[in-house]
Amino acid sequence: MINLLSSYLEDCSTPQYFCFAIRCEVCGEFWYSSSVPFSKAAQAADYSDKKELYDAIYQREKERAKLAAGKEARERFSQCPICRRLVCDSCFLICDEMDLCKECADRLKEYGEPVVP
Ligand SMILES: [Zn+2]
Ligand SMILES: [Zn+2]
Repeated sequence: MINLLSSYLEDCSTPQYFCFAIRCEVCGEFWYSSSVPFSKAAQAADYSDKKELYDAIYQREKERAKLAAGKEARERFSQCPICRRLVCDSCFLICDEMDLCKECADRLKEYGEPVVP
């Protein structure tokens, strides 16, 4: 699931902050991960002769931030077992037989309550 999620994470990072977004494929709402500041943002802006060094640190911190964003997203997104789309908790229903996204539940006439109403 983490791997699936990372492939959906959109990079919204800036030179100062790391942030990732995922779009629910049912309602189209974007979810943004908590942003993580780049620890060397000030130095990187001041010492352009050390750009390569700060670039490397930036990439390393970004990888970590992406993993953290993936974990965070796992609490808010589920993959529908029918259509295989990644949907947010308000579009994902707990049904009697199997938990499904809203659209599949409608189509299959399954009733359920959203994970987050
Ligand atoms: Zn949704
Ligand atoms: Zn579905």
